[in-house]
Amino acid sequence: QPALEVSALRKAYGDTVALSDVDLTVDHGEFVTVVGPSGCGKSTLLRVLTGLEERFEGRAEIDGSDVREGGSDDVGMVFQEPRLLPWATVRENVAVGLDGPDDGRVDDLVSQVGLEGFGDTRPDELSGGMAQRVSLARGLAYEPELLLLDEPFSALDALTKYEQQDFLLEVWNRLEPTVLLVTHDVEEAAYLGDRVVVLGDQPGTVERVIDVAVDRP
Ligand code: ADP
Ligand code: ADP
Repeated sequence: QPALEVSALRKAYGDTVALSDVDLTVDHGEFVTVVGPSGCGKSTLLRVLTGLEERFEGRAEIDGSDVREGGSDDVGMVFQEPRLLPWATVRENVAVGLDGPDDGRVDDLVSQVGLEGFGDTRPDELSGGMAQRVSLARGLAYEPELLLLDEPFSALDALTKYEQQDFLLEVWNRLEPTVLLVTHDVEEAAYLGDRVVVLGDQPGTVERVIDVAVDRP
């Protein structure tokens, strides 16, 4: 059973074809990057997978269950902007996805993303990289089957970006979630992905999906 399976996926907004005939299979524990220019349908693909986009043609399954029937419960999401609650502490921000009391798992997550000692700090006292790590911890809080990341490093300066990319690889090696990361940055896609999927040639259309095997440096 693959972690993620998309077949003949097609999504149009009126006359605009956002995704056409997309096939993608991701195995458990794989780190797949999806790269393509702005407008090629990357965000649409993630919306489909998170269940935010229910009207599409084709199949989209997470761990064998249709995303339209709750397959998306097992998905953690990390956005380009950390989108932290400004009035809440790091610990509270991480716990936001969890119901029930903080049972120490939150503290574990906070230290797993390298923020030990910052549990009671508020977002405005964090660097951009640290804020993005809080966002990553929040994405991991459900212990999701699948972690989806939408341009998570695009807003960071180059040095912080490299640091956070390596940090994500380290977390992935340690916790072994299945990861699907979308980006317009070809270098980033090649560096992070076990496998790189190229989505579309032309803005607004998906001409083809190519799987390319790339070795990390
Ligand atoms: P990307 O994330 O790769 O930049 P998107 O998935 O955001 O691409 O968009 C793919 C195409 O679908 C674009 O042409 C975009 O303008 C169009 N699109 C996306 N969302 C909507 C929407 N809600 N309504 C109309 N068109 C949309
Ligand atoms: P090492 O220290 O293992 O020799 P380097 O840090 O020198 O590796 O990087 C080797 C190559 O990989 C360089 O071309 C560098 O630009 C690129 N690289 C390193 N880290 C990243 C990163 N986080 N994202 C993208 N490219 C990277």
